[in-house]
Amino acid sequence: MIRENVEQILRELPSGVGLVIAAKARSAEEIREAIAAGARIIGENYVQEAQKIFAQVGDKVEWHFIGHLQKNKVKKAVKIFDMIETVDSEQLAVEIDRFAAQEGKTIPVLIEINSGKEAQKSGVSAQEAQELVRKIAVLKNIKVMGLMTMGPFAGDPEEARPYFRLTRELFERLKALRAENVEMKYLSMGMTNSYKVAIEEGANLVRIGSKIFGPRQCAKKEI
Ligand SMILES: *Cc1c(COP(=O)(O)O)cnc(C)c1O
Repeated sequence: MIRENVEQILRELPSGVGLVIAAKARSAEEIREAIAAGARIIGENYVQEAQKIFAQVGDKVEWHFIGHLQKNKVKKAVKIFDMIETVDSEQLAVEIDRFAAQEGKTIPVLIEINSGKEAQKSGVSAQEAQELVRKIAVLKNIKVMGLMTMGPFAGDPEEARPYFRLTRELFERLKALRAENVEMKYLSMGMTNSYKVAIEEGANLVRIGSKIFGPRQCAKKEI
């Protein structure tokens, strides 16, 4: 089923929209099956889990960090991930930059936008985003390459539309600034229940888990 699901999603995605396999709590075997079906970007939420899977799956695919990154995990994260989608503070960006420099890498990052302004979610508000980008654009070993948002979880994907739209508008505003060392290229929005609406609102990276692998075992609330 994993294979068919990935193939179907890849067939149906408009060209220019990338698929990130949301792989939390999935086994290396399941992830390999998704890769065999054509998946090229693996999204992980937890550094420790990613290390384990990475050791088995390897670097033939791209690895995106899509969870909440704790500062004490940055060193390990920088070794594995090709992109960190969830930067939401200057301190975190500084840590990523520092360890990326040690690794001799430049890490592309996305700014996570808390588009629903939910107290329990990470991410910066649309108002704070420009200031954050301005502050971290000077860092030499990261490169700001776009925005990511979760949006409030809603059963009805139409309810997520205004939040995706707000994030898209912010994306366009930031792009228009043409700031140095900033390339507004990726807009990562939409999950299993909402990715079609997200694409209509301009997403060019979608993060899909349960539609590929089935429902998760532990119904842990996403952060
Ligand atoms: C789990 C997760 C997804 C995918 O969610 P599904 O509803 O399983 O498609 C997308 N983005 C993030 C950040 C996630 O944690």
